[in-house]
Amino acid sequence: MTASLASPGTALPGQPHIARDGAVLRVEQADLQALAREHGTPLFVYSKQWMLDALAAYRRGFEGRDALVCYAMKANSSLGVLRVFAEAGCGFDIVSGGELARVMAAGADVGKVIFSGVGKTRAEMRQALEAGIACFNVESEAELDVLSDVAVAAGKRAPVSLRINPNVDAKTHPYISTGLKGNKFGIAHDRAVEVYRHAASLPGLTVVGIDCHIGSQITEASPYLDALERVLDLVQAIEAQDIRLQHLDFGGGLGIDYNGDTPPAADALWQQLLARLDARGFGDRKLIIEPGRSLVGNAGVCVTEVLYTKPGEEKNFCIVDAAMNDLPRPAMYEAFHRIEPVVLKVDAEPVRYDVVGPVCESGDWLGRDRELAVQSGDLLAVLSAGAYCMSMASNYNTRGRAAEVLVSGSEARLIRRRETVEDQLRAEQLL
Ligand SMILES: *Cc1c(COP(=O)(O)O)cnc(C)c1O
Repeated sequence: MTASLASPGTALPGQPHIARDGAVLRVEQADLQALAREHGTPLFVYSKQWMLDALAAYRRGFEGRDALVCYAMKANSSLGVLRVFAEAGCGFDIVSGGELARVMAAGADVGKVIFSGVGKTRAEMRQALEAGIACFNVESEAELDVLSDVAVAAGKRAPVSLRINPNVDAKTHPYISTGLKGNKFGIAHDRAVEVYRHAASLPGLTVVGIDCHIGSQITEASPYLDALERVLDLVQAIEAQDIRLQHLDFGGGLGIDYNGDTPPAADALWQQLLARLDARGFGDRKLIIEPGRSLVGNAGVCVTEVLYTKPGEEKNFCIVDAAMNDLPRPAMYEAFHRIEPVVLKVDAEPVRYDVVGPVCESGDWLGRDRELAVQSGDLLAVLSAGAYCMSMASNYNTRGRAAEVLVSGSEARLIRRRETVEDQLRAEQLL
């Protein structure tokens, strides 16, 4: 990450866009205490510069190549975030018709959209064909047949890439590992050539590429290198059948620093992968990648207010107004988010707390065994909350979803107002 943010004060480790101005935490030049006063809590605050710097790292890695970054928007699909990447010229990786509607609402170029996912419906296929997306990443033989039918009925040909399961271990949490034989994703490596032959024979399809996506929060280069070799072996075997692949798509999955994690930098990783591509004679192919988390994860924090502290015999609890419905990753994957006081108190004695939300589930925790000097009314910032937080947020316990602010320098703009209970009740009716 570049040092272009130049916040005064000391940046937090691994978070160049977050620094203390005196005691108070800022995202770029925006004071989190002031933003919480203005918009209430829980509040997501994102740094635009962090997103652009993360994108620039990929683009440095791909310098001089024919490469397209398709932001995997399920990581954070808020319109204000999509607009940042659309203006920067990105494509988008979508996984539903709803996400297609969102990229269109954000004013993105639909010709740079690719459609992934194991369960596309006929209606979603029709919607994407009408919109004119770049490619369907197909995940099963049954899906190929249905897509061909839908395309023929619409008088179109669907551009397809087959998602191959390369059977490599991404060495990440089992729930976010997707490239092993036991996963539901992709087409088995040993069936791939046959399935490509079938795809090429279908009247509604045009084969345009190949793709793989082996998992998420990957913090080593080796799984990518293994997957690359396996995919290139297949490209050779497929092209020996006279099926030409215009593009190679290596998915997303690069990790971020949550708690001292040290994933390879995007540019360094891609220089390594491109060297292998060149060595095997595929360096001139069009390349697509689908990063999500690594483009937004550390851009965001969630500001939450301490409601109560509750000392106990075995544990002390710090009860905050954000919960698993806002920040689902700890409950889902036992994920770690750093938690920092928004206003640092130097002379107060820290106490060890489990930081928990108000939701009626024991799984509703945000952090365990954290040393904090806090009392009711204080603000905490949950870090690394840009990816897979707001986009996974729910209304459990009839809690409205949080507001979101996008910061650029000293400018802070609301990109989503807080959801009201009226918003939640709107779709329902009494009998
Ligand atoms: C989720 C997903 C991505 C993005 O993964 P990250 O770990 O967020 O980079 C890319 N491609 C596909 C098909 C996905 O499902």
